[in-house]
Amino acid sequence: MDRKGKKRGTKSPGDPGIKRKFHGNRYTAEKDVTCVSKSAEKLKNEEDIEVAIDESSTYALLSFTLVFSALESVLICKACKSGIKFLKKSQVGLGFNLCIKCKCNEFTTINSCPKVRNAFEVNRRLTFVMRLLGVGLSGINIFCAMMDLGPGLSKSGYYSILDTIHIAVKSVAKVLFRKAAQEEKKANEQEGNIADEITVSGDGSWAKRGFTSLLGIVSLIGKYSNKVIDVIVKSKVCKACEKWVGKENKDEYLEWYEDHQTECTANHEGSSGKMEVDGVIEMFRRSVEELGVKYKKYIGDGDSKTYKNLLEANIYNNDPKVEKNECVLHVKKRMYRRVKETLTQLQKAFLKTLFFWSARVLTFFLLNRLLSNFNRLFYTRIVLVGTKENFFHP
Ligand SMILES: [Zn+2]
Ligand SMILES: [Zn+2]
Repeated sequence: MDRKGKKRGTKSPGDPGIKRKFHGNRYTAEKDVTCVSKSAEKLKNEEDIEVAIDESSTYALLSFTLVFSALESVLICKACKSGIKFLKKSQVGLGFNLCIKCKCNEFTTINSCPKVRNAFEVNRRLTFVMRLLGVGLSGINIFCAMMDLGPGLSKSGYYSILDTIHIAVKSVAKVLFRKAAQEEKKANEQEGNIADEITVSGDGSWAKRGFTSLLGIVSLIGKYSNKVIDVIVKSKVCKACEKWVGKENKDEYLEWYEDHQTECTANHEGSSGKMEVDGVIEMFRRSVEELGVKYKKYIGDGDSKTYKNLLEANIYNNDPKVEKNECVLHVKKRMYRRVKETLTQLQKAFLKTLFFWSARVLTFFLLNRLLSNFNRLFYTRIVLVGTKENFFHP
């Protein structure tokens, strides 16, 4: 459907009908994803993505007034020989333009950090690092406010950065998974197996315990390389779709959804426990196309559902038939839990018996102690007061 001319942008997930269009000013700089898309595409075809680290490139936190007023007091402009003033302009997130003002007609502008196209690199770095730490937009803005770093990021800027990061991270992950699969193939061959029929260990984790989680992640790890070969995120929700609940029959929604479906995050129906089963099967299905390998042996966590479904799906058409191994660590984990449970029960039983006897012993000692105290008091009073009779009837 032609949606040209309509407003769209990545405000927040779910702001309907927004077009990603780059207008070239600082407010929209983050919305330009063409650059990252091209780089991501290029990256996908590269075998090695070792990045050279520039040790000389570092960031520093400065007290703007302290540092720049000190500089103003010692510097003059080369051209007009007059004193200069430093000003902070066009701040977006942590990035800004440093203006140097003097008597010359034009003033010099320096970027406070490198720019990627028109966007400040530091903001992408901030968002990425904060996401790694589990901090979102509100956290970033609280951090910026409390550190006196400026107003932080706008909602639309933040979500545009997320889009950019997502594109970049996705392609880097793909390259890394491919690399890991190649390593696994090599190691597999060295162990005397057919190179591209590898053994993987699969497991799922959820955002919360108890099989009620709306989000889950399933991963496959190579047996010999111990590296993650594939990952899939399973979600029962999509924030964008949530905003249309109750309006699913409207034309507006259908038009919006046509464009949205490729980026809809809801990719799972059914129980949260089923996420692992579905995720593993999906990853098996794409193994040949994406990684050039077949998963011959599956090391599971003892949950027989996954293997049963894998057999039923018969993804490789019995070439080869997927075999099952049990993960030693999971067996160990289950054994440990059961031994611990038994021990706790034993402990409880023991304590019960012990309590009975110790209560008796304790009572005996306590009574004795009380009695001796009473005796001491009793006889002290007798010494002080005189006779036994006087003690009770002084
Ligand atoms: Zn000047
Ligand atoms: Zn959706």
